[in-house]
Amino acid sequence: MTEKEHTIVKIQSLEGKVLVTWSDGSVSPFHFIWLRDNCRCADCGEPTIGRRTLRLTDLSLDVRPTDITVNHYANRHGSSRESPSCLKTDQPGTGQVGIDQSGISQLAIKWSDGHESIFSDHWLQTYRYDRPFRISQCFKPPLWDRPILEHPPEMLFDEVNSSDDSLLEMLCHIRDHGLCFLKGAEAKDGVLEPFVNKIGYIQETNFGRVQDLVIDRTKPSIANDVTALKTHTDEPYRASPPGILMFHCIATDVNGAGSSTFMDGFQLAEILRQEDPEGFQALAQNRQTYRRHFAGDVDLVTEFPVISIDEFGNICGIRINDRVASPLNIDETQIEIYYRGLKRFLQLTEDPDRMILRILQPGDIAIFDNHRILHGRTTISMKGKRWLQWMQIERGDFYSTLRITADRLNIPRDANPLLRGAYS
Ligand SMILES: [Zn+2]
Repeated sequence: MTEKEHTIVKIQSLEGKVLVTWSDGSVSPFHFIWLRDNCRCADCGEPTIGRRTLRLTDLSLDVRPTDITVNHYANRHGSSRESPSCLKTDQPGTGQVGIDQSGISQLAIKWSDGHESIFSDHWLQTYRYDRPFRISQCFKPPLWDRPILEHPPEMLFDEVNSSDDSLLEMLCHIRDHGLCFLKGAEAKDGVLEPFVNKIGYIQETNFGRVQDLVIDRTKPSIANDVTALKTHTDEPYRASPPGILMFHCIATDVNGAGSSTFMDGFQLAEILRQEDPEGFQALAQNRQTYRRHFAGDVDLVTEFPVISIDEFGNICGIRINDRVASPLNIDETQIEIYYRGLKRFLQLTEDPDRMILRILQPGDIAIFDNHRILHGRTTISMKGKRWLQWMQIERGDFYSTLRITADRLNIPRDANPLLRGAYS
């Protein structure tokens, strides 16, 4: 938890729930079955290391406390389990207790099935699920504004590659703004891969493990076009599209035209929501069909919303790439409104005022979240050579590295699944 810790000031047992009142006045319900199912004792096992032995199928859904006690300790240091000041509910199932607001407390429950559980106030506060708390815990990254468009996050490759502090700073830029540029890497083959391995495992696909985007007409890839490539997210036709993408510029035709473009898909979607709430909802509630077919090799087809939102309406993922859109197969009443929303969204993806244009120079690396950031390029000159090396990792590995790096630096972090819903 990164937020202020609250202590338990009151517990009340009511209608199948323990109601915990916190020192800030907020109240969290904890259902009996939820508490029993999440018992932390040695017999029930530890879920974080995959050793949970308790099975829901062995529990009664009607399990109830026969005794609820708050064990209160004077402070978090030097207290012992043997001498808590115990405060009990008068009548299990209906009573309530009040306790001192200072110190640590534990909720001790004896259950109707004979089991006993203990929950610390810290644990309960971390996993509370009252609606206001859940809303406050949703990940809502800042949308791009003028300062970010003009000065996007940029760091030195050597610093990020050699210092955990700088690595964490870069990971946080990507988490919060979806993108970070690195300067000063060596402009040669073999530099990107060991760096990418520090952040996650390289995802291999039918396109390969390490991809070289070289201007070369002999390869059947869209990347060899020299005309402009409209901004898009990559490979929405996969069940799990690339998570974090990394482009390393090894060579470029510095005399010719050709810049990379980046946009904040979350920002564009919010603009759409303001302008046309119905069109926005149509793109969030219906599934777009995407397909990529190379005869004899792959035929990837998936259906997924263009805009992913969580249950509170927060945007948590974007898949937009009309070059690989297959015929829409949604309810007939939605077709017109869907097309209206999609057309406006695609218009927004062409707005140069909301675009970062950057000529990647040899040694530059661009790292971005493919579920948020759209990328593309302007028309490229063929006078010289352009060589970008490209790798991708899963978003889950990215967030894991962010947490583990924070742990190494002793920086508080949480275990929330960020950007919920983008894969669901
Ligand atoms: Zn247990």
